[in-house]
Amino acid sequence: MTVPEPATSRPATAPSTTSRPTLTADVPDIAPDSARPTHDGPLATAQSQLAGAIRRLGYDEGMHAMLATPRREINVAIPLRRDDGSTALFHGFRVQHNVSRGPGKGGLRYHPSVDVDEVRALAMWMTWKCAVVELPYGGAKGGVAIDPRRYSQAELERVTRRYTSEIMPMIGPERDIMAPDIGTDAQTMAWVMDTYSVNQGYTIPGVVTGKPLEVGGSLGRATATSRGVVHSTRAALHEAGLDLPDVRVAVQGFGKVGSHAADMYADAGARVEAVSDQYGGLHRSGGLDMQRVLDHVRTTGSVVGFPGADPIDNTDLLTLDVDVLVPAAVEGVLTADNAPDVAARWVVEGANGPTTAEADAILAERGVVVVPDILANAGGVVVSYFEWVQAQQAYWWTEAEIEQRLAERMLHAYAAVAEVARREAVSLRDAALLLSVQRVAVAHRTRGLYP
Ligand code: NAD
Repeated sequence: MTVPEPATSRPATAPSTTSRPTLTADVPDIAPDSARPTHDGPLATAQSQLAGAIRRLGYDEGMHAMLATPRREINVAIPLRRDDGSTALFHGFRVQHNVSRGPGKGGLRYHPSVDVDEVRALAMWMTWKCAVVELPYGGAKGGVAIDPRRYSQAELERVTRRYTSEIMPMIGPERDIMAPDIGTDAQTMAWVMDTYSVNQGYTIPGVVTGKPLEVGGSLGRATATSRGVVHSTRAALHEAGLDLPDVRVAVQGFGKVGSHAADMYADAGARVEAVSDQYGGLHRSGGLDMQRVLDHVRTTGSVVGFPGADPIDNTDLLTLDVDVLVPAAVEGVLTADNAPDVAARWVVEGANGPTTAEADAILAERGVVVVPDILANAGGVVVSYFEWVQAQQAYWWTEAEIEQRLAERMLHAYAAVAEVARREAVSLRDAALLLSVQRVAVAHRTRGLYP
């Protein structure tokens, strides 16, 4: 089948929240070895989602194998000279899942549990995300299995520069463009850019996005993912005739995405009743004072211990009696075990892959509206694209211009996905997957096979 491209001028319309079939399916035998998950993690979820979309679109095995398999992968060893003179060794990866629509685009993650399957899944989701918001990019992702909290800034700089040097042939402003993700930040991107630029012999700001403003970063990038999460929440609520002041929100994860999102929800009048980080969470009926929570985190490094709220653990937060649940930490937190107990009517995925395939089916069955990661958290890559365009042109936009263009892109993408969801009677996730997988397949077919 072909999913007609949605009319561009149509307003966002709500898919009904009654139970719908989901696309998720077992990974079929045709998934090639290199793309077959070695354990039941994010890659299993990503492959299952793709298999469902392929089946519904009626694509053949060749197209499935092509879309299931990363174009390029590199696996590197990163030796680090520690500050005390000893040596440590880390493993790093960069995966370009698909480059049919343009250069690879995707974050760099520093986390002790990073492995190649996780990076493959995240790279695949980047392909679909860039296609959903119609950016001229493919999907990529990188990771280093390191706990950044256990190393000094000087050590992290050496790890970053060595990793960049090892993957140098794969990256570049026309090849593969990095951005911050879990455990990395604007400073990490500055080190990547500098290492790449020094080796090329001139300054190349377009090799990364999410850089500091002083070296070619974009206004609005640091908050863009969260702003996009809030835009998509508002669009979903509008379908039910509600707005942010009408709802209670819980946010899991208080990093770059979760903290700004919680702040923006509160600023827009929503009652943010619970927030958490990896150390624990806070709950207060009626809403937390977000400015005071942010001050507390700036001082202590965690939400834990904030006075004037009850402690809550990360498991209980997911099933709290709120209207909107925003998982904005790590993947795989909503599972078949807890999905039946999710009380929220809307789940807005700030994180990548927070919902397993089984949980997704349960939530759909229960009429919970899931605004999927590849749509909900696409604001970050949209403003990354704006940053890349500005860097290529050496011409800088104002914050107001960026925020207006971001809002337009997010609302346009939401409307397109919602239209497919309504027309095909599928969930927002399945609609986003149908639209994006088809866009990538069309680009692939149009380019043809070489030789
Ligand atoms: P971050 O490192 O800045 O923050 C992560 C937060 O999650 C921290 O508060 C950490 O304490 C918390 N956390 C970690 N493990 C946890 C656990 N097991 N339970 C509860 N909380 C836990 O990372 P980030 O950039 O905010 O990314 C968060 C998620 O959003 C990731 O899935 C990432 O891929 C996704 N994402 C990020 C961006 C971006 O622009 N940064 C864009 C799109 C998607």
